[in-house]
Amino acid sequence: MAKKQFKTESKKLLDLMINSIYTHREIFLRELISNASDAIDKIYYKALTDESISFDKDNYYIKVVPDKGNRTLRISDTGIGMTKEELDDNLGVIAKSGSLSFKKEIELMDGHDIIGQFGVGFYSAFMVSDTVTVISRAYGSDDAYKWQSSGADGYTIELCEKDTVGTDIILKIKENTEDEKYDEYLEEYRLKAIIKKYSDFIRYPIKMDMVSKHLKEGSDKEYEGYKEEQIINSMVPIWKRNKNELTKEDYDNFYLEKHYGFDKPIKHIHISVDGAVSYNAILFIPEKMPFDFYTKEYEKGLELYSKGVMIMNKCPDLLPDYFSFVKGLVDSEDLSLNISREILQHDRQLKLIAKNIKNKIKSELENLLKTGRDKYEEFYKAFGRQLKYGIYSEFGSNKETLQDLLMFYSSKEKKMVTLDEYVSRMPQEQKYIYYATGESNERIEKLPQAELVSEKGYEILYFTDDVDEFSIKMMMAYKDKEFRSVSGSDLGIEVEEKKNLSDSEEKDNKELFEHMKSILSGKVKDVRASVRLKNHPVCLSNEGELSIEMEKVLNSMPNSPDIKADKVLEINTDHEVFKSLKEAYEKDKEKLNLYTNLLYNQALLIEGLPIGDPVEFTNNICKIMK
Ligand code: ADP
Repeated sequence: MAKKQFKTESKKLLDLMINSIYTHREIFLRELISNASDAIDKIYYKALTDESISFDKDNYYIKVVPDKGNRTLRISDTGIGMTKEELDDNLGVIAKSGSLSFKKEIELMDGHDIIGQFGVGFYSAFMVSDTVTVISRAYGSDDAYKWQSSGADGYTIELCEKDTVGTDIILKIKENTEDEKYDEYLEEYRLKAIIKKYSDFIRYPIKMDMVSKHLKEGSDKEYEGYKEEQIINSMVPIWKRNKNELTKEDYDNFYLEKHYGFDKPIKHIHISVDGAVSYNAILFIPEKMPFDFYTKEYEKGLELYSKGVMIMNKCPDLLPDYFSFVKGLVDSEDLSLNISREILQHDRQLKLIAKNIKNKIKSELENLLKTGRDKYEEFYKAFGRQLKYGIYSEFGSNKETLQDLLMFYSSKEKKMVTLDEYVSRMPQEQKYIYYATGESNERIEKLPQAELVSEKGYEILYFTDDVDEFSIKMMMAYKDKEFRSVSGSDLGIEVEEKKNLSDSEEKDNKELFEHMKSILSGKVKDVRASVRLKNHPVCLSNEGELSIEMEKVLNSMPNSPDIKADKVLEINTDHEVFKSLKEAYEKDKEKLNLYTNLLYNQALLIEGLPIGDPVEFTNNICKIMK
């Protein structure tokens, strides 16, 4: 019999399939079962819509039969079958639906990836078998045909016998090699596990003859084992079941079963959409941050199913980075099974789904904030940072989505508050949303810079996360209220004029500050009388956009350029210390030098910044004590 040749791109892929050392060979079964399911779909539909065909639900199934003796694995279906022409067309050329993209993919990337992410349909059978035989009888035909191929050198088609309509795929399983154990694809328990893993939710029964143990007749101790036909898959996935019939426990179990995490999810979201795009989804918000969340190893994404068949383990395009902690899956009727990653990214349906999902997560989180504040705060502790990164990244374009999910510790409420809560209780004359930055709430609590704002009775938000100030700089404003740091130059607070200083006093002070500025040259941009200090003698503030806190964060990054905020040393002219400064300025310049450096270093310490020379600093303190 003359051998027919595969079409060129099919040949390429076949080579790849046969020769690849591939760790996920097991997916061949998923691919074949999914083809079988599609074939049954077609005849099922016919039977449902054509009254001349008798309809019996039990006639539609898939059967998997390993035969260790002959080293074969058979996958049979009662689907629509293929005619001789169809065998030639469908199996002689690579999946038509995907052929264009495959050609590109093969050139673009390493073949292992294609197989792993998407499977490549029928051809994946060659990953585990030397010879593939397809015996098929098409619906409406009395003849059956046998298609056979041992790989890239071509295939044959000949007439054969088959009693019923449908397709048998018979794989001659490869011999074990040193590195690869192909035997496992003949083991019932292993096949069962693979079916459970990938095809559990196929809507037709997948049957296997499994050995089960029974009490021997007439005995209550002795067992005997015999084969019994079992249905391996559960057929109805949880996401297709009615929400009202499911308990929280069902969802929690599913979360564990799927290995989404070891914790109990804080919330599950079950979505069923029928519309421009139809899909079901189950999403989880974990309670705890996965240990690898902030490492390169962490991959965001949702499992993607097409018609109940898993096509991708982690589809990253379904989740924005700021919701990367969400786990779960999406199942859509509108996606093709053999879609490639490249094509998927631009798929209109997928984009729609992703957008829907994003909005749903957002609204569910907002809901949780309203109705389960404690839980939300727990969530925020674990993942709030991710939301703030979300605002900071992409030039603030996610501001609208995320701003109402933010929380900060409040100086007044002594607990976490939202921006909306803050703004809604702002006194009329208050112009800005005030914040203070620092290592911890306790340290911020003591910041001298906050004195004026606090005295005014205004609420201050405490920023303790590196990313906080960067995010709100990106936001610029919330509900038209701009953010202001209590250490910033313009606080927007009217201050009463200092008691009228005489012109000469004013001039003297100015000279003093100029002198101090020259002592601290290169360290501060200015020295001036403070309006914000009430009790403390000294503090640092900053001018311009770059705050001292941001300087700290930026400088802690690897390979950071040496960036400096414009610092201003503020002196409280009502404080006793100021008198000493004036005195020293008049009588003892050496002392002024000492005092100025001491005050500057104090201000650095308060700010949590390192002092340039700690030894000199402590020696200077001793000098004063003497
Ligand atoms: P895809 O399923 O993406 O089209 P495949 O290479 O897996 O790609 O299959 C190619 C074609 O062969 C299918 O589209 C289908 O028409 C046909 N086919 C494969 N398996 C079967 C089967 N078990 N029964 C009927 N037709 C099948």
